[in-house]
Amino acid sequence: MRQSQLFTKTRREAPKDEVAKNAQLLIRAGFIHKEMAGAYSYLPLGLRTLNKIIGIIREEMNTIGGQEVHLTALQDKRNWEATGRWDDAAVDNWFKAKLKNGNEVGLGFTHEEPLTALMKDHISSFRDLPIAAYQFQVKFRNEERAKSGILRGREFLMKDLYSFNVDEKAHQEFYERAKQAYVKIFERVGLGAQTYVTFASGGSFAKYSHEFQTVCEAGEDTIYVHEGKKMAVNTEVLNDEVLKDLGLARSDLAEKKAVEVGNIFSLGTRFSEALGLNYKDAEGKSKPVVMGSYGIGPGRLMGTIVEVWSDEKGLVWPESVAPFSVHLLALFDEAGTVKKVADDLYDKLTKKGIEVLYDDRDAGAGEKFADSDLIGIPKRYVISEKSLKTDSIEVKDRLTCKVEMVSISSL
Ligand code: ATP
Ligand code: MG
Repeated sequence: MRQSQLFTKTRREAPKDEVAKNAQLLIRAGFIHKEMAGAYSYLPLGLRTLNKIIGIIREEMNTIGGQEVHLTALQDKRNWEATGRWDDAAVDNWFKAKLKNGNEVGLGFTHEEPLTALMKDHISSFRDLPIAAYQFQVKFRNEERAKSGILRGREFLMKDLYSFNVDEKAHQEFYERAKQAYVKIFERVGLGAQTYVTFASGGSFAKYSHEFQTVCEAGEDTIYVHEGKKMAVNTEVLNDEVLKDLGLARSDLAEKKAVEVGNIFSLGTRFSEALGLNYKDAEGKSKPVVMGSYGIGPGRLMGTIVEVWSDEKGLVWPESVAPFSVHLLALFDEAGTVKKVADDLYDKLTKKGIEVLYDDRDAGAGEKFADSDLIGIPKRYVISEKSLKTDSIEVKDRLTCKVEMVSISSL
């Protein structure tokens, strides 16, 4: 993409009311736009990164047999009444609205109920199982505090997968595979070293649920980390009994702030029993389906990457999620030689399938460098009158700041 065509502008200052580092930087770099607290729009650069994150999650969900769907955000209250989750006393973050005919609808904050109800059309026998279905879909939650930028939206994207199995054993096997897929996702987006499988409350059907917590200062959660075992325990379940069960000593754990980037949960038969999702086993006996749910917030993940990787100059994207791989900066000369060489290199790189943002704007070197640091593309190629004296290009690594001169022909 030619930067002269990119409609977004960078800015020196973030809006005064924006207190989260992730949103401040993403707004300044032109990746997102703040509509209001807890509601952010994605602009071309931001959407490219978000889509890379989505692509990685989608690959890993497909690998464990997930089938992609897309459910409605508008929710029929009857499914939620059946599980006791329509009542505002049970769920305090609903957004609800009224239809013209007076009926109430909800904006989904999660999708266990509608998907369980939907599966009644498709599951009747043990032969129909297992099933894993997932989506990338917008959720609405009337969050009390929305001060963490895209880490906590009132409207946000979630990847939610739901598993349907014949029994607890089959469920556990899938659950383990999902856990490994999650580990892989966080490694692939550049958060492997900081992200811990964290034991959290399991609700009424399982001893534990597992959260994926990324250690960083912006985190709203407190976890207790065992570095050697690469695992952690959430505050809510930290007690002597749990430590004994997990074979951990309190003195080996370090207290850390962390962001919950993902969460996997055994649901047992809570939803299938409430909504009547049953199957017939080999003997023809009717049994409730055993379920699990598996969430990741792609937006929260993007915000966490920013919190972990950015520096004082701006964003620093891991290669796998960067909006472009190369930021090509042309520092134009009077004679037009730089432009010619840069145009040519841009064409060649693009034809090779390399994603290049080409700063072909009529702007000064200082502005181009500052914008490039702010946008945070992993590799920066600078073509200038000076570099052309040796027929070369200056290549700078955004993360390490290492600079080298590379000859155009070898490049
Ligand atoms: P939290 O405790 O942080 O409010 P949660 O436990 O309610 O989150 P889940 O219901 O487990 O969240 O949602 C699954 C995933 O969706 C989370 O792990 C997180 O990545 C993402 N997520 C949850 N709430 C938000 C939000 N308000 N904004 C952005 N992402 C979110
Ligand atoms: Mg959670």
